[in-house]
Amino acid sequence: MSLTANDTSIEIRPSNHAATPEARAKLMTNPGFGRIFTDHMVVVPYKEGEGWGKGVLQAYGPIAMDPAASVLHYGQGIFEGFKAFKQPDGSIACFRPEANARRFNTSAARMAMPELPEEIFLAAAKALITQDQAWVPGAVGESLYLRPLMIATEAALGVRPSNEYLFILLASPAGAYFPAGVKPVTVWISDDYVRAAPGGTGFAKCAGNYAASLVAQKQAQGEGCDQVVWLDAVHRKYIEEMGGMNIFFVYQEQGETTVVTPELTGTLLPGITRNSLLQLARELGFKAEERKITVDEWRADIASGRMTEAFACGTAAVITPVGHVKSRHGNWSMNKGETGPVAAKLRETLLNMQHGLSKENHGWMTKIVG
Ligand SMILES: *Cc1c(COP(=O)(O)O)cnc(C)c1O
Repeated sequence: MSLTANDTSIEIRPSNHAATPEARAKLMTNPGFGRIFTDHMVVVPYKEGEGWGKGVLQAYGPIAMDPAASVLHYGQGIFEGFKAFKQPDGSIACFRPEANARRFNTSAARMAMPELPEEIFLAAAKALITQDQAWVPGAVGESLYLRPLMIATEAALGVRPSNEYLFILLASPAGAYFPAGVKPVTVWISDDYVRAAPGGTGFAKCAGNYAASLVAQKQAQGEGCDQVVWLDAVHRKYIEEMGGMNIFFVYQEQGETTVVTPELTGTLLPGITRNSLLQLARELGFKAEERKITVDEWRADIASGRMTEAFACGTAAVITPVGHVKSRHGNWSMNKGETGPVAAKLRETLLNMQHGLSKENHGWMTKIVG
């Protein structure tokens, strides 16, 4: 698939202080995640009555905002995350950016924010990745992480949807999430906090969801865990997500492998990685199910041996195996705390596709440059 978006809608104003090739190379030797940013960003303003204005690609840097800007008070802010990958032929392709553009608008609608035409979202990505293509790393597991966001910028303290917004796209080179190889995490099941309730904002990628999650994440760390596992807000027994990732469970029975992920109830974030893995699992000959699953099932099915693995998935880390579970419901381990074969297989399959090392016939890779 090739990006057909009309990128003339973005005015290009190159930075006059872009990093030298030497400085860039130094920064990119150990980029980590979300710590360094490329030379440019794209900014598109919105005004009620006028709609979206001219997009501008400009030098990356601080933005001026009125201290009364409503995002700073009432939190009208949403974001997305997707990746661009260097391909073997030297071109650069993004993984399912159209899906991110669509989800951005689902989030916008929930937060009473204006929808951004998908063409603008994609044109901004094309402009930024083209301009900053030297910042796209090449090794498997590495990528350029794209971070689109929208914030309410009107200076007004009345509680109502803002009349002005800013769409911003920035980019950050991302190293391999697990430089020393994939390492399973230990998780804490939260009984004290919930991430999302029915009728709330769980399905939207809004900034406030993350703000509300941090205290639970802190508690998990206090319990010696890496991540928090969220339960449903009503019954406090159905597993929903792990931190900012979706979660999968693997069953092995009578020679058949089944992957199970909690169904989308409105309180879960509909992950694009989750959706992709459901399809890839079926293509690999596994069964794939979306259904409710309880903490008691997790513990009992591990004890009986029917369940053999659990892993989380999302754009940033792709697949993160769960090694150990701690909770007030007891502690248990999966696959002796090691990465299981199904998580490893799905991870390799998805990464090979993203890096253009295997055939991709879903139309998931959108060529941006080259
Ligand atoms: C972004 C996100 C995910 C993962 O979505 P992907 O599209 O796979 O990156 C899962 N859960 C939450 C809460 C998220 O914010």
